Amino acid sequence: MGKFTHRVLLYYKYVPIEDPETFAAEHLAFCRELGLKGRILVGEEGINGTCSGTIEQTQKYMDAMHADKRFSDLVFKVDETEGHAFRKMHVRARKEIVNLSLEEDIDPNELTGEYLEPAEFLEAMQDENTVVLDARNDYEYDLGHFRGAIRPEVETFRDLPDWVQENREMFEGKRILAYCTGGIRCEKFTGWLKREGFEDVGHLHGGIVTYGKDPVAKGQLWDGQCYVFDERIAVPVNQVEHVVVGRDHFDGTPCERYVNCANPECNKKILSSEENELIHRRSCSDECREHPRNRYFLETGMTEEEWRQKVDELTASKN
Ligand SMILES: [Zn+2]
Repeated sequence: MGKFTHRVLLYYKYVPIEDPETFAAEHLAFCRELGLKGRILVGEEGINGTCSGTIEQTQKYMDAMHADKRFSDLVFKVDETEGHAFRKMHVRARKEIVNLSLEEDIDPNELTGEYLEPAEFLEAMQDENTVVLDARNDYEYDLGHFRGAIRPEVETFRDLPDWVQENREMFEGKRILAYCTGGIRCEKFTGWLKREGFEDVGHLHGGIVTYGKDPVAKGQLWDGQCYVFDERIAVPVNQVEHVVVGRDHFDGTPCERYVNCANPECNKKILSSEENELIHRRSCSDECREHPRNRYFLETGMTEEEWRQKVDELTASKN
């Protein structure tokens, strides 16, 4: 018996689902009945979900899904935790289960890159003629990534195809290896790369979370942590060494602690120490700090006077 009482599940499958709206409503009722919390997207192309619950609840969920012939071979990535990793339960019907917003969509069951298992990926990415491309968003890369991987300048996944088009010369004549958190984004993205005429394209099967648990790869050549879309925010990957690559937004020191800018109209994710969060009132810029809707004082319950005093105390203790 371990000390963990709960589990977080991460999973997806590209498989035709008829009438996603009805499916979503029924699935939501089922998840609520089990007592799960999380976020699940359903579309005509498949399902993409992450949810948490007790060991028993998550087991019942996985068993029920595997009993459905559409999902009989669904692969669940399972992490043990001490409690729920979500506050609510959402199941939503969407046009796409990952938002790549292509004019002509890709069906990964028909077109996708070569699947590389973790140990194969580890070996392949060290080859000279290979470029490793991070298929996630910039803030995910900034917390952790494969050593030497390319960081696309994109804030959302749907901007990635345009970015690749504009930077084609980086990839011409190379073997391209893509990776993402759980593998779902790469299935579509590498299909798109192939359609664009890139011939030698592969992706990490099961994504970073599988790679970190693999007994051979052991998460090697991963620096930092992996960003996850639940309350844990960061999870470890490399079992052999831990190199911190995240940098504090305010002073550039090593940091792996994400907070959201206190201006709700910005809400940008910034890496910040607790001290800098206080000093800068969790605001990414002067503009955000002075913004009329800034929620820092509201959320902390501090007055400006009290805040000033705390900052003075902090400064005094450092001198
Ligand atoms: Zn901001």
